[in-house]
Amino acid sequence: MLSVSEIFYSLQGEGRYAGRPSVFVRFGGCNLRCEGFGGKCDSYYAVDASFRESWGKYDTKRLIAEYEFKKPYLYADTVLTGGEPTLWFKDAEFREFAEYLAASGTLVSVETNATKEIDFGFAPFANFVYALSVKLSNSGEAKESRINPAALTSFIKHSNHFFKFVLDADMVASGKAKEEIDELKNEFGIVPQNIYCMPLGASKEELLGNAKSVFEFCVEERYCYSDRVHIRVFDKKRGV
Ligand code: SF4
Repeated sequence: MLSVSEIFYSLQGEGRYAGRPSVFVRFGGCNLRCEGFGGKCDSYYAVDASFRESWGKYDTKRLIAEYEFKKPYLYADTVLTGGEPTLWFKDAEFREFAEYLAASGTLVSVETNATKEIDFGFAPFANFVYALSVKLSNSGEAKESRINPAALTSFIKHSNHFFKFVLDADMVASGKAKEEIDELKNEFGIVPQNIYCMPLGASKEELLGNAKSVFEFCVEERYCYSDRVHIRVFDKKRGV
C-alpha cells in the first residue's frame, strides 16, 4: 500500500512551472530530515514518523479515484511530492499509478532531493520532469547523505530536469551559497539556466527575510529565481 499524506488541487507555487494549475500528490516518508531548516523541514508532516498514522493507505485503484476526484474537469499538471516520492518508485502499485499518469497526458513533475537512483528504463519515469532540490549545507544534513553523485549524474543524463536550491540570507552573505553551487556546477556540469534558487521560508515572515538576498544573488549569478507563492499568499496554511 502507498502512504499518501495529502492530495489536493492548487497552483504550483515554485520552480519552472510556478503558477500552473496542478494536482499535488504528497507521498509520506523521506530518507533525510533537514533539521537545519529551522529544526524541521517545511513538509515535516509528510516526513516525521509521528505523523505516519495520519497518512492515508492507498492501493492504485483508490489513489487514481482520489486523484481524479481532486482534478478539475479541465487539464491540470500533476506534481508528485513528499517527503521523498522516489522512495516509492520501485513499488508495483506506484508504477501502475505512474503508467496511468503517463497515459493521461498530464505533465508530471517530481519534486525530489535527488539522492535515489531512478530506473529510467521504465518509460513513464523517463517522461516525467524532475525538480532536483539538492540539499546544501544549510539543510543540516551531512554531505554524504544529501549528495549522491551516481544519482545526480543519472538524473542529469537521462531526465528533463531543473535544480532548485533553498537559500537563506546568511548563506548568501557568507559566500557559502556561491561556493557550494559552484562546486556542484563544476562537478556535474550543471548549466545556469537550469538553476533556480528559492528563499528558505516555511512562513511568510521567514520568506520575506530571505527573499531579497536570494533575488539579488540570482541576478548576480545569472540564475533563475523561484518564489514560494503559496507561502507568500497563504503563510503556513497546508493543502493550498
Ligand atoms: S529532503 Fe525535502 S522532504 Fe525530505 S526532510 Fe529534506 S526538505 Fe523535508
